[in-house]
Amino acid sequence: MQVFKFGGASVKDANSVRNVGEIVKGFAQEKLLIVISAMGKTTNMLERLTHAYVEQTGKAKQIFDEFKTYHENIIQELIEDIQPNGFDDIENTFIELECLIGGNPEGSYDFNYDQIVSFGEIVSTKIVSIYLNQTNVKNRWVDARNFIHTDANYREGRVDWEKTSSLIHNKLKPLIEKQIIITQGFIGNSNNNNTTTLGREGSDYSAAIFAYALEASSQTIWKDVTGVLNADPKRFKDTTNIEFLTYNEAIELAYYGATVIHPKTIQPLQSKNIPLFVKSFIDPKAKGTLVSNQIHDSIQTPMFIIKDKQALVSISSKDFSFIVEENLSKIFEFFATHNIKTNLMQNSAISFSACVDFDLLKLKHLQATLSAQFIVKVNSDCELFTARNIQENQGIEYLKGKKILLEQRTRSSAQFVVSDKEN
Ligand code: ASP
Ligand code: MG
Repeated sequence: MQVFKFGGASVKDANSVRNVGEIVKGFAQEKLLIVISAMGKTTNMLERLTHAYVEQTGKAKQIFDEFKTYHENIIQELIEDIQPNGFDDIENTFIELECLIGGNPEGSYDFNYDQIVSFGEIVSTKIVSIYLNQTNVKNRWVDARNFIHTDANYREGRVDWEKTSSLIHNKLKPLIEKQIIITQGFIGNSNNNNTTTLGREGSDYSAAIFAYALEASSQTIWKDVTGVLNADPKRFKDTTNIEFLTYNEAIELAYYGATVIHPKTIQPLQSKNIPLFVKSFIDPKAKGTLVSNQIHDSIQTPMFIIKDKQALVSISSKDFSFIVEENLSKIFEFFATHNIKTNLMQNSAISFSACVDFDLLKLKHLQATLSAQFIVKVNSDCELFTARNIQENQGIEYLKGKKILLEQRTRSSAQFVVSDKEN
């Protein structure tokens, strides 16, 4: 039993969906669960719709029409003689969303976000499922919310592993024995039966949850790149594909900011030793990357990773007290309760610095709260640059012309918090 995940770029228009069909055809004899994201940049569009609806800006209907037209164009090109029941099914989904945004917003922003944004995955999977059935790749559409259960932490639902695993194992597995199953990434069900999402780009993670509970023989993420590269080809020249990675290496890369694999994806797979393939949907025969527990030489390849939208927070005590002994727990408590995502830390006797995800509101709040007791400095507009497996300063050309605000080295990596601007 295998799990495939196709992301937004792989289903962004009619031709892309046809290409997915070609790939899946090659596996039509397999027991297969296919997890699909929203088409193209639909999730961004639905984020705008959420904003318009919750803030009642008057733009909601216009954005809804954009959403509907985008999908209808794909349907028209793809599905020649769409069966009336298939058509009704998709049409009803549009109506459901239109009714939702025609009402008055209730509940928190994040709650509304999940109820609206999830429509991207619902519609995309319905279209792909109907198209594949029409081209004789027989499959059944299922609603991921019947299986993936989370708490009510909207926009970042935490998975109820026990309930989820047992539902997938007992109810979904028998269905996959019979035919290919198509379902949504990214979405789940809170314990009071509302939709939750698992965090942006969470479809890889959904696929891993399914693979874990199904004890799948492998998971494959189909991407628009050949596999995991040693650097982002949009920012670096001469990138190379990394053929083999260990689970731990992949977790570290994701943590440093590599965006090919969603950070939460690896651990469920690692715990059941399920190999993860990252392959190109443009060149499906190419080797791609295999993430497993096997150590290979390729993990010695130099790798360069940039994490954008960072801020450097520097905290020192006003009263000359030592940071570590007396103050660190207070600072950490603030970081933890406000869910400030920390990517690098460094301290001296009297100061503490952290590179964190930039979030204007949280950082203002941090400054306001801690500055009674500490001197708090925030540099925004930073990047965290990580170089792994490098000899001395090889590959550090990236740093030319940049201001290095903080530097940290270990045996296998060098990390720099840098900024283009003087703050
Ligand atoms: N559609 C969602 C997003 O764009 C989930 C995903 O693509 O993985 O964030
Ligand atoms: Mg996506």
